[in-house]
Amino acid sequence: MQRTLSIIKPDGVRKQVIGRVVSMFEEKGIRVVGIKMLCLTKEKAMGFYRVHKDRPFFDSLTTFMSSGPVVAMVLEGEDVIDRVRDIMGATDPKKAAGGTIRNMYASDIEKNIVHGSDSPESAAAEIPYFFSEMEMG
Ligand code: ADP
Ligand code: MG
Repeated sequence: MQRTLSIIKPDGVRKQVIGRVVSMFEEKGIRVVGIKMLCLTKEKAMGFYRVHKDRPFFDSLTTFMSSGPVVAMVLEGEDVIDRVRDIMGATDPKKAAGGTIRNMYASDIEKNIVHGSDSPESAAAEIPYFFSEMEMG
């Protein structure tokens, strides 16, 4: 059994697709073991995306991520890291396969509705960035 961190970004909360995004994971048998709404400060968003600190989109991305509430989730299942990435679709919604979250709901490459850890190493770092042991079922 594997765990991953997913975030419904501020555009997903604004577009009122929280329920639909959670359903797309649950319908595939993925279990929600932790979930909460929170507002990231610019600093907390910069810490979360620190691997991208030298990318040209870093300032815009972290301003966007701190522009409104997000929903952070810990998801559990077999091979859940890769399965969540498949359900999300490609980073650029124009390239995201039909039926994926980003294909259906995202408007551009930055405002792309959802985050999912990309490897066991990032999941292991990202889950405790948001959740304590007591907050996970
Ligand atoms: P993913 O979220 O698919 O793992 P990355 O880790 O490459 O994608 O990038 C992190 C986030 O940064 C993306 O989800 C998106 O919000 C933003 N982003 C990525 N590439 C760009 C870009 N070229 N222009 C603007 N924002 C971007
Ligand atoms: Mg990534």
